[in-house]
Amino acid sequence: MPGLEDLYREIILDHHRNPRNRGELPPPASHAVGHNPLCGDEIDVYLEVTDGVITDVKVGGQGCSISQSSASMMSQAVKGRPVDEVRALVRRFKGMMSIPDEDGNPIEPDPAVKLGDLEALQGVVKFPVRIKCATLAWNTLLQALDQG
Ligand code: ZN
Repeated sequence: MPGLEDLYREIILDHHRNPRNRGELPPPASHAVGHNPLCGDEIDVYLEVTDGVITDVKVGGQGCSISQSSASMMSQAVKGRPVDEVRALVRRFKGMMSIPDEDGNPIEPDPAVKLGDLEALQGVVKFPVRIKCATLAWNTLLQALDQG
């Protein structure tokens, strides 16, 4: 379906041109930095969590378009949502990226967890070197959550 691929490319380009939630949050917001040395990508994630809900998120950093678009899409997907929902979303996203769970088993897609626009990134799976670009923001998000 070439039409669908065009749509996906458009979503990714839009997030690259107009990154959402760009910036920083002052302490006591948690802050984590992620690096992908294979590509030179760097992502900063700032999180404000209140009563188990991500009330604010900002992202910074630099790198390839996939890493930056994924970070922008991540920020949009998690803002205003409960942390446990967000953890389920991260797991679902990693499953889409063919990343195994902690025990090395494939992650079964949970139909209750909707990916929405994030599905635009599923084409990245065809390019294994870019998977680390796409997942960098999500791993950095987990680091920031574990700090908070
Ligand atoms: Zn990259």
